[in-house]
Amino acid sequence: MKRALFPGSFDPITNGHIEIIRRGLALFDEIVVGIGLNTTKQPMFSPDQRQKWIEEAFRHEARVKVCTYTGLTVRFARQIGAKFILRGLRSAPDYEYERNIDLLNKSLDSDIETFYLLSSPETSFVSSTLVREVIRFHGHLEGLLPPHIIRDIYATYPGGAPVSGKSPHA
Ligand code: ADP
Repeated sequence: MKRALFPGSFDPITNGHIEIIRRGLALFDEIVVGIGLNTTKQPMFSPDQRQKWIEEAFRHEARVKVCTYTGLTVRFARQIGAKFILRGLRSAPDYEYERNIDLLNKSLDSDIETFYLLSSPETSFVSSTLVREVIRFHGHLEGLLPPHIIRDIYATYPGGAPVSGKSPHA
């Protein structure tokens, strides 16, 4: 059983992440989407909300599991029996960033191998950070997020999200 961990913040999950997971399913038997909770950033959406949105996106795909974790990503990968980590690459800055994480992870646990998939042209400009800006200023979210997430966000923020402060989802 080839199990891969796809770690990230997923605040929220975007069509870019979803594309990487779908393509990853051709390479791995199971993908565990790991929502990392150890970043210092204040998230826009609660871990629960982020998890529900990802589960809903893959409700017809039993090979995708979702969970939250704290601590080192390689340690969590080992805990869940994942020998592989999956990451997406959008650009050269992504590569530079990922390269350092890869070297660090290798020094922590050389048994875990990271695989990278290049994002498609349709989603390579999409990031959760930019999506959160669009949410704050009530821009069009179509094409950036799956419809069920857009529906929830529009229902919560009919006039745009507050520019500062926590969202009602957090
Ligand atoms: P992090 O908080 O570690 O940056 P993210 O949730 O933003 O994590 O992303 C998780 C993974 O998904 C990372 O490998 C990131 O490069 C990748 N990713 C994010 N957006 C896209 C996209 N539009 N296309 C492909 N990969 C992406």
